Amino acid sequence: MKIEAVPSPNFNDRKLPVDMLVLHYTGMESGQAALDRMCDAEAEVSAHYMVWEDGRIAQMVGEDKRAWHAGVSSWQGDSDLNSRSIGIEIVNCGHEFPLVGGSLEPFPPEQIKAVIELCQGILSRWNIPPSRIVGHSDIAPLRKEDPGEHFPWKHLSKAGIGFVPNAPTEGLNLIGRGLGVTDKGEAVERLQADLKMIGYDLEITGVYDNTAQKTVMAFQRRWVQDRVSGDADMLTLRRIAQVHEAYSKGSFV
Ligand SMILES: [Zn+2]
Repeated sequence: MKIEAVPSPNFNDRKLPVDMLVLHYTGMESGQAALDRMCDAEAEVSAHYMVWEDGRIAQMVGEDKRAWHAGVSSWQGDSDLNSRSIGIEIVNCGHEFPLVGGSLEPFPPEQIKAVIELCQGILSRWNIPPSRIVGHSDIAPLRKEDPGEHFPWKHLSKAGIGFVPNAPTEGLNLIGRGLGVTDKGEAVERLQADLKMIGYDLEITGVYDNTAQKTVMAFQRRWVQDRVSGDADMLTLRRIAQVHEAYSKGSFV
């Protein structure tokens, strides 16, 4: 793993110990454009690392310093996530610059291999529980879509980074309508409470409002990647229950 120092002026001192890891995609036309921006004092954004498509890694900010990547965000009741997280930008055009035909640019295997090695190193240096390894869209579901539903979270989970349930869904009774916009009542309250317990910042209103819809989309980008609809269909409800159970028990197998 080759790490090149490309210092950015966009950092300050942490106010808290590190206990989170936040993954992003760059969402720009090129890695160089993203790197230039993160090193431009006027842009006031940065991350600790950026991983190129070919697996090269640039380090912009020391891990002991507070890089500026999360913005207004929240997870498991915490805010000021920049103070407690390490941020990795992964070069990818994302939703901002889709391929001709509309699909999202895939992440090359050599890039994911480098992301995994980098994350494993970070996890060996800092005490970061699996439930606090997140995507930018998890901590800011109303504003952000990165690292996107094409990011291979399952692959990372198999390498010990974050959690994706292994439990099969075949054979389960997944017949039913699920929940969606305009639904109200106790079932919606339970859904909101489960998402909140996982870490998402939302109020338990009992109404399937815009925030609930966007939060379900953020959940789907990670855990039900082939159906990012914002509707809590039966499979999505099942996955939410699985993740909720693992996070509440602290059991990630
Ligand atoms: Zn981001």
